[in-house]
Amino acid sequence: MANASSGRHLSIDELMSASSPTCPVCGSNEDDIIESVKAGCAHCYITFEHILNPHIERMHQLRLPEPPSEFSDLLRDYPSFGDIAVSSRIRLARNLAETPFPGAMTEQQQSSVFEQIGDFLGGIAEGEAFRVIDTVELKVENPFEAASLLERHLISKELFHKSEKCGAAISPDEKVSVMINEEDHLRIQALGEGLALKSCLETVDRLETMLSGHFDFANDEEHGWLTRCPTNLGTGLRASVMLHLPAHTDSGSIHGLTARLAKSGYTIRGFYGEGTKPVGRLYQISNQQTMGLSVRQIVENLNALVLRIITREREIQRALDNNHPGYIDDHVWRAFGLLTNARSISGEEAMQLLSAVRVGVSIGELSVPISTIDNLIHKIQPNTLCFDSGRDLSDVEMNSVRAQVLRRTIKGDIAN
Ligand SMILES: [Zn+2]
Repeated sequence: MANASSGRHLSIDELMSASSPTCPVCGSNEDDIIESVKAGCAHCYITFEHILNPHIERMHQLRLPEPPSEFSDLLRDYPSFGDIAVSSRIRLARNLAETPFPGAMTEQQQSSVFEQIGDFLGGIAEGEAFRVIDTVELKVENPFEAASLLERHLISKELFHKSEKCGAAISPDEKVSVMINEEDHLRIQALGEGLALKSCLETVDRLETMLSGHFDFANDEEHGWLTRCPTNLGTGLRASVMLHLPAHTDSGSIHGLTARLAKSGYTIRGFYGEGTKPVGRLYQISNQQTMGLSVRQIVENLNALVLRIITREREIQRALDNNHPGYIDDHVWRAFGLLTNARSISGEEAMQLLSAVRVGVSIGELSVPISTIDNLIHKIQPNTLCFDSGRDLSDVEMNSVRAQVLRRTIKGDIAN
């Protein structure tokens, strides 16, 4: 083809770049977008709308059913439902406008974003300042502490495995953490005990307002808050509740529940998120849809759904108890006996036994505080045990230390 102004012929490379747009901000090209189905920056949603929009439509076509009337408008915290709802979490994804997203940033941009956000959160005046952790450095200095942050859900698996400049700012009470340079520049998350979506929402909302007074976050009218992955567009919100569902699990009802949730736009996962098998009969239920509904509606819908599941769990539990009198009591007391006497317990067995003891507490058979059981779930994970012991433990030592932690914590400080 002749170039009209100069009369010379264009090279193959020039022809390719003339027909294939490149993002002027982050330099991503069509192949990058098609391959990853992720935006390199806010501007990519304009440059590559012909590629991204069909994906966005497909990803966000799910529409959640209306919550049943008896549970609608019931967004408050439910401390008394802690026997089934273990913990709640809300996270918001945000990105700085004008800066390429993680995955498309230069090293200098990664450091600059980390420092800007870290400096701000490390210095905020509400209570004590956040502790800012560079996870890449921490993995070298104290690998057990880094992995323990993952086991306590303060950072994600994705952040833990990243080798570019990234980290987290964590509040002194460890109820709030902001991951920096994970998939998005900021992942603001609040954690709460039991069914506490309302207070988690208020916490992230407050922090996001504070941050947005200082940083300009990427958004546009059509897509709302702009995120690296189009699945998070709109609100950038993921709300989750960790539920302990022994009756659903033992009766097999969990399979029907899983299928129903998938159809109505929710995900159900095991204890450690995506792709993990449920351990200790614990399940994490989250919203999938982030667009087309307000933050409040998404959280209200999840809250209503969880209330319905909790009601159903209690019904199945009663039915199991009626059909097999004494079975649950026996199961609970056997587990309690093992946890308070065993000298060596593997992680998997411990999770099963704690699940049984949790049932004992919820039916009023055992007087161990439910928070003790839930703290133990985190305390007995391998890296947390090594971190708390101050050294690397062999498998044999690990099982022995785990058994000791369980015995001492559940029985109180009785000499063992
Ligand atoms: Zn771009």
